[in-house]
Amino acid sequence: MFDSYRSNTLQYDPVKCINCGMCTTVCPHAVFAPGENEVRLADYLACMECGACQMNCPTGAITVESGVGCAYAMFYAALTGKDEPTCGAGDDACCS
Ligand code: SF4
Ligand code: SF4
Repeated sequence: MFDSYRSNTLQYDPVKCINCGMCTTVCPHAVFAPGENEVRLADYLACMECGACQMNCPTGAITVESGVGCAYAMFYAALTGKDEPTCGAGDDACCS
């Protein structure tokens, strides 16, 4: 059975990466980290499948099936005035 705490749908092909850094900029959970020739998948399990990296990657090096949990977090952050959406921890988490 699929367990979102142990795996997710994020896939990264470093061969296609041109090291533009967009994914490290847009990812709210620092899943990607800068590398010398291509980015590194630094914290795979932190991915909340928001899809931002895939949408902003110019070479198609990243694919992910976007979920709905992050949308809840973003709405919650907007409604409560939080600076950064949170997901997966604390009393206000949608998927704990
Ligand atoms: S899908 Fe969202 S959380 Fe996951 S790596 Fe991409 S930007 Fe980060
Ligand atoms: S956005 Fe795509 S091409 Fe740019 S650094 Fe990330 S994986 Fe590489």
